[in-house]
Amino acid sequence: MRTLYLLTGLCLLSTPLLAQRTLLHCGNLFTGTGNDLQPQMTVVVEGNKITAVQKGYLAPAGTDRVLDLKSKTVLPGLIDMHVHLESETRRGGQIDAFTQNVPDIAYKAAKHARTTLLAGFTTVRDLGGSGVNISLRNAINQGLIEGPRVLTVGKSIATTGGHADPTNGYRRDLMGDPGPAEGVINSADDAHKAVRQRYKEGSDLIKITATGGVLSNAKDGSGPQFTDEEVKAIVVAAKDYGFAVAAHAHGAEGMKRAIRAGVQTIEHGTYMDDEAIALFKKHGTYYVPTIIAGKTVADSARMFGYYPALVRPKALAIGPKIQNTFAKAYKAGVNIAFGTDAGVFIHGYNAKEFEYMVEAGMPAVEAIRTALLNNARLLGMDTQIGSIEVGKLADIIAVDDNPVQQIKTLQAVRFVMKDGTVYKQ
Ligand SMILES: [Zn+2]
Repeated sequence: MRTLYLLTGLCLLSTPLLAQRTLLHCGNLFTGTGNDLQPQMTVVVEGNKITAVQKGYLAPAGTDRVLDLKSKTVLPGLIDMHVHLESETRRGGQIDAFTQNVPDIAYKAAKHARTTLLAGFTTVRDLGGSGVNISLRNAINQGLIEGPRVLTVGKSIATTGGHADPTNGYRRDLMGDPGPAEGVINSADDAHKAVRQRYKEGSDLIKITATGGVLSNAKDGSGPQFTDEEVKAIVVAAKDYGFAVAAHAHGAEGMKRAIRAGVQTIEHGTYMDDEAIALFKKHGTYYVPTIIAGKTVADSARMFGYYPALVRPKALAIGPKIQNTFAKAYKAGVNIAFGTDAGVFIHGYNAKEFEYMVEAGMPAVEAIRTALLNNARLLGMDTQIGSIEVGKLADIIAVDDNPVQQIKTLQAVRFVMKDGTVYKQ
């Protein structure tokens, strides 16, 4: 039986002509390898791969299936480096920590994942949740639910009382003393244990909260929360497992410690000063701005009762600054990676970030490219995703207008293919 099965498998592999081909007739094609759009192109997909990209509208033969995208601009699936698929902002949402069971989180996460995929984001980096995000990734990979390709940190790593300490703001008797297993560290030894725990649980990378943050129920939103020794230990431990490290940071001191220690990306970067900018450039660190999250938390904070009393002033102070920080960093030549912090705003609006990037002075074509091969490289997946090229996975989207001229068109994605499967048409 086994021999027969193997032979059948080999047979299929050696006769690719029998596999059904999908021909995408593209009015305009942005492959993501350059700045130009090419009119009237055909992308050929077989299985989950792109097998040809050619001029003109290739006529179907035999069992070929044609997808008519002649009135559309076709581009690679977008990549968001910062989402939280488990949660979504809502008024008074802090109570969820006490009322939601794990399955409640999981059902919501499944919905958020599908929304994200249908918005044209075919790959995302999930930067923190309870660990349901790991099961979510697995369920998507197994084809049980629809969602983007997910790389996840599982639970992000904090210090006691710091941003992402899971019991911040709890009543004393409920606080307990979370440790490395729960993603809370207080020494270099703890750092190693916390990273190894993430490895054990199946995370794809590591996230630390290097400074205070806006939405944690704690007073400080920007001070450093890891010692040099702790953040270095995180990066050293992560390296052993091939993990990149993403660091949430608003304040400059925590940001600098993280960059010097060798993290791959800084998230938010709000109070980036000239010294921090110089360090970004020296170390080749990437900046993930999340402008939309900043704007959203500031807007929400203006609504009475939306956030707890400790959160509101932080949201009002930090939120509106991020777009200017982005403008300054971009002008100074800091490497930019596209990321939004979706979940802090409603899932599916991720592409609004492009509009804010352009508004702050980045040319549209450059903004689009930050979300393609640029992000794919940071994920170590640039041979598989990030552009429409022969041999790559068929992650392909389409929009009505030319996004280089009309960046807002990315906010209304009409067609989504991931891994060769059509999810929206
Ligand atoms: Zn975040």
